[in-house]
Amino acid sequence: MSPIAVVGAGIIGVTIAFELQRRGRSVVLIDRDSSGKGASYGNMASIAVTEFMPASRPSVWAQMPKWLIDPEGPVRIRPSYMPKLTPWFLRFLEASRPSRVKELEAAGAVLCSRVYEDLMPLLQATDLVEMLTDEGCLSLYADEAEFKADREHIAVLERFGFRHEVLGGNAIRELEPALTSKIAKAVLFPDNHSIRDPYQLLLELRDKLVALGGKVELGEVVGFEQADRVKRGAPE
Ligand SMILES: Cc1cc2nc3c(=O)[nH]c(=O)nc-3n(C[C@H](O)[C@H](O)[C@H](O)COP(=O)(O)OP(=O)(O)OC[C@H]3O[C@@H](n4cnc5c(N)ncnc54)[C@H](O)[C@@H]3O)c2cc1C
Repeated sequence: MSPIAVVGAGIIGVTIAFELQRRGRSVVLIDRDSSGKGASYGNMASIAVTEFMPASRPSVWAQMPKWLIDPEGPVRIRPSYMPKLTPWFLRFLEASRPSRVKELEAAGAVLCSRVYEDLMPLLQATDLVEMLTDEGCLSLYADEAEFKADREHIAVLERFGFRHEVLGGNAIRELEPALTSKIAKAVLFPDNHSIRDPYQLLLELRDKLVALGGKVELGEVVGFEQADRVKRGAPE
């Protein structure tokens, strides 16, 4: 059997490559950067079981104009990039139809409700269970208005039966004394555990892949040939 090339040695590529290698396939994991310091390095490390709300929902659209003019906002679009972006935006718009949003929420809920069924066998097989913390995650709100603005999220969690607990005042600080009294409301997501060190997890999984016989190569993938073979250029 010919080897399988996996492009990108972040957490997604490494775990796919590890699983393929574990199932007896021969794998080459290719990355243009040997450090592994993409998104999998500097993230919040939350196993964010409750975060499956589709980005295409209308309430996100409503905030878009404000975000676009705010230099600190989460969306920035270079005007010269607009022609390239337009087809993507049309698909995004199409995905914001209420019926499609409902379908996406349901699909996200199915995936997220089985996160630990998927994650634990991987951590057990690699002896990395201690990388997972026990505590849950708190979502914080400065006031009632902020909390109300997030009702849509809580309503979806209620609809799909995801565990959460709304906390106010002293209950918040009993749970997390470091929080200031400016935080008026919080929602506890007990099932959103964290990974102690996502970069360390990535490195350990990469080592285990190599120990199983997988290869890690440096190179930029610049395209695919019809025969599914990967073309590689020199690393930057
Ligand atoms: C600030 C922040 C906080 C986040 N917090 C969370 C969180 O709490 N919980 C959560 O679940 N998710 C979180 N995420 C999302 C999460 O980090 C990403 O979904 C995840 O790391 C993506 O993994 P990846 O392997 O796809 O990408 P990456 O880790 O970015 O890896 C992609 C790799 O592909 C390589 N590559 C790309 N193109 C090529 C090419 N053409 N040829 C060769 N190599 C290539 C890159 O060099 C890179 O190493 C967060 C993201 C950010 C930015």
